[in-house]
Amino acid sequence: MAEAQALRKAIECGVPDNDKYMHPTLLKNRGNWKYHDRPRPGVLHHVAHSGDQVWSVRAGTQRQMDTHTIRKLCDIAEQFAEGHVRFTIRSNIEYIVADEKKVAPLIAKLEGEGFPVGGTGNSVTMVAHTQGWLHCDIPGTDASGVVKSMMDALYDEFKNEQMPNRVHLSTSCCEINCGGQADLAVIVQHTKPPKINHDMVANVCERPAVVARCPVAAIRPALVNGKPSLEVDEKKCICCGACYPPCPPMQINDPEHSKLAIWVGGKNSNARGKPTFMKLVASGLPNNAPRWPEVNEVVGRILRTYKADARPWERMADWIDRIGWPRFFEKTGLPFTKYLIDDWRGSRANLNASNHVRF
Ligand code: SF4
Ligand code: SF4
Repeated sequence: MAEAQALRKAIECGVPDNDKYMHPTLLKNRGNWKYHDRPRPGVLHHVAHSGDQVWSVRAGTQRQMDTHTIRKLCDIAEQFAEGHVRFTIRSNIEYIVADEKKVAPLIAKLEGEGFPVGGTGNSVTMVAHTQGWLHCDIPGTDASGVVKSMMDALYDEFKNEQMPNRVHLSTSCCEINCGGQADLAVIVQHTKPPKINHDMVANVCERPAVVARCPVAAIRPALVNGKPSLEVDEKKCICCGACYPPCPPMQINDPEHSKLAIWVGGKNSNARGKPTFMKLVASGLPNNAPRWPEVNEVVGRILRTYKADARPWERMADWIDRIGWPRFFEKTGLPFTKYLIDDWRGSRANLNASNHVRF
C-alpha cells in the first residue's frame, strides 16, 4: 500500500526545460543578439554580439499532421539541417542552421517535398484554426478543411512578402469557443435556433446548467409529453449555439442553416496600436465542403483590396480605420446589409468593450 502511494505521487515539473532541445548556437547566445534581418522570404538571419550567426528556415505544414509527415520533417532536419527544429504557434516548422551554405539545399529539399518556405515577413501567415470534425464534438464545419482550401488559394501570399503588413487569419468551427482575433477570420454562423429532441433531454442534459448557459435567458425548463425537457424562446435566441455542448439533444448544426461568416480587423498585439476586436463584414456564406468556394471568393476579394489599397505597415484594422467602413464596403464590393449591424443591446452590459487583458 505504502509502495503504491509512493508510486502515484505526482511530479510537479511545470513547463519542460527546452534547453536540451535548443540549437547550441541559440543556447550559447541567449539574450545576446545584436540584430536580425530577412535575407529572403521564409529565412530569418540572427547575428549575436559574439559574432555567431544562425539562419532559421520556416516552412508551412498542413497543420493536422500524421506521424509519417512528422518523421519526414525530422529526417529533413537530420539530413539537411543540424538536427534541431521547432514548431511556431501557427504550426509552421523552423529549421535552425549555423552554416549559411546549408540554407539553399534545405529550402530546395523542403519545397521539393511540398512544404512551402515563407511566412516570415509581411505575408499571409498560416491560418490558425480550431479542431473541426476531426477532434471536437460540436463543430458546425470542418475548420481544417476550410483552412486547406484557403491556404491552397493563398499559397503564393505565404511564400512572398508582398502584403502591407502581417495578415493573420483564423477559422473557428463554432460561434462560441476557441476561435481568436485575427486580421481576417472565418467563423461558423448559426441562423436558426436549436431543434430539441425532447425524448432525450431528461436522460442526457443537466437542465439547470443548460438554462444558465444561455447568454440571453432564452431557455426555460418545460414538461413535454409528460417528460422533463426544455423550451427555447425563439424571439430571444441569438443562435449562438452555447446550449448545444452541454446538451447535445439541442442540435443547432444544420447542413443548410449553419453558415459561415467573415470578420475582419482583429488584432491581439499591442504593437503600434491597441488590440482590436473583429467586425462582421460578410454573413450567410454557404458551408460548402470540401472546397468552400464562396468563402474563398470573399477572402480573396478582401485581401486583394487590402494589398492594393493599404499603406506600408498598415494592419487590416489600421487600413479600415483610415478609409472608414463605408469605403471598405465600396472598395471590396461587399454588400452592407442589416445583418452586419451590431444591435444587441445586452452587449453593453455583458461584454468587455476591448480585449485588453484585465486582472
Ligand atoms: S471552435 Fe468550437 S467546435 Fe471548433 S474546436 Fe473549438 S469548441 Fe470545438
Ligand atoms: S442558441 Fe444560444 S441564445 Fe439560443 S437558446 Fe441556445 S444558448 Fe440561448
